[in-house]
Amino acid sequence: MIRCTAARVNLDALASNFRALEAYLAADTVLNRAAGAGPSRPPGIIAVVKANAYGHGAVAVARTLESAGATMLAVADIEEGVEIREAGVRAPILVFGALSVSDVAGVFDHRLTPTVASPGAGRALEAAAAARAVRLKYHLKIDTGLNRLGFRHDNLPRTLIELLTSPHLELEAVHTHFGTADEPESPLFDRQRRQFEAASRVLDELGAGPRLRHAANSAALVRDSRGWYDFVRPGLLLYGLVPPPLHSTLALTPVMSLGSRVVAVKGVRVGEAVGYGARFVAARPTRLAVVPAGYADGLDRRLEGRGVALVRGCRAPIVGAVSMDMLTVDVTDVGDVAPGDEVVFLGSQGPSPWQTIDAREMASWIGTIPYEVLCRLGSRVERQY
Ligand SMILES: *Cc1c(COP(=O)(O)O)cnc(C)c1O
Repeated sequence: MIRCTAARVNLDALASNFRALEAYLAADTVLNRAAGAGPSRPPGIIAVVKANAYGHGAVAVARTLESAGATMLAVADIEEGVEIREAGVRAPILVFGALSVSDVAGVFDHRLTPTVASPGAGRALEAAAAARAVRLKYHLKIDTGLNRLGFRHDNLPRTLIELLTSPHLELEAVHTHFGTADEPESPLFDRQRRQFEAASRVLDELGAGPRLRHAANSAALVRDSRGWYDFVRPGLLLYGLVPPPLHSTLALTPVMSLGSRVVAVKGVRVGEAVGYGARFVAARPTRLAVVPAGYADGLDRRLEGRGVALVRGCRAPIVGAVSMDMLTVDVTDVGDVAPGDEVVFLGSQGPSPWQTIDAREMASWIGTIPYEVLCRLGSRVERQY
C-alpha cells in the first residue's frame, strides 16, 4: 500500500545536474586560464548530502552522486556519515560538523574524514589515532567571518601549532564557509575570501605542508570562480535549484516533485467557512478539493491563502487552514475536478511556466528559503525513486 501523498525523486535529473555542474566548472576554467585568472584546473566536486540529502533520501542520492563522479560526499555529522557508509558508499565522506567525544570512534570505524574546528577536537582525534596506531586525514576549518565553527583566521599561529604537529593527524585540506554568498550586496563575501587566502599564507609560514583548499557552496560557486580552489561544495544546485535571489545559466532540473490526489470535492455556499479557525469564508459558491496532505507532510501552514497547487493543469489556491493531514484548494475555476485527480505541490502539470512549481517559488510564498522547504518534507512521505 502506498499513500497518495508521495515525493518523486528523479535520480536521472540528479546525475544530469551533476554533469551540468561539471561542464560549467570545466568551461569556466578554460576561460579563466585564457584570461590568466582563476583556477587552472577544474575543481573537484564535494557533493553535499547532509540532512537526508536535503530531504531527498541520503542513500539513493549518495549512491547516484558517487557513480556520477563526486570526488567526495559531505554530511553534517557522524551519524549521517555512518548511514551512507553502511549503505555501501566507498567515496571519501567529509563530516562538516563539530565532533563530540562519543563521535570519535565512528570516524575510525567507518572511515570518515573529520573536520577539525578547534584545538580540543584535534587533541581528541590525535589521542584516538595514537591509541589505534593509525594516521588520520582531516580537513581544517578556518572561520573567516561566519563566526560559528572553525579556528579564527586572525590568530592561527597561536591556536594551530599543536594540531599541525600532531604526529597521528594529517592535514588533507583546509576550508572555510561563506555567510553571505547569496547576498550580492554584502561586502563580507569578498572579505571572507581574502581572509581565507591570507590564512592560507599563514599556514605556509607555519609549515603546514601541501594541502587542498575548498570554500564554495552553491551560491559562491555561481557567483565567483575565484572561490573555487581545489573543490567546490554544492548542495542546492545538485538538487536542481539556484539559491535565491541568484540566477544562473546552468541547465538544472529540480530533482524532487511532491504530489497527491483529490480525495473529496465539496461545494460550499456563500458565507460558509472552511477549516480550522474558519478563516476562509466563501464569497461566491465555491468548489473545494480536499487533499490528504498537511503540515505533517511538510506543507507549511503559511501556505494558507498564499500558495497554490496544480490541479488539471491549473493553479488552484490553497484556502482555509493547512491542517496536520489535510488541506483544501479552491477549484471553482478549474472545471470538472473529481476524486482521484492528481494534485501537484512541487513539479509540473504541463508545458507552460505556470504549470510548474518548484521549491524556490514555494519558499517565496511563505517567506523562507528553498532549503527549508526541501528539508521539511515529512518522514511519512514516501520517496519514490
Ligand atoms: C550545507 C553546506 C554546503 C552546501 O550549501 P549549498 O548552499 O546547499 O550549496 C557547503 N558547505 C558547508 C560547510 C555546508 O554546511
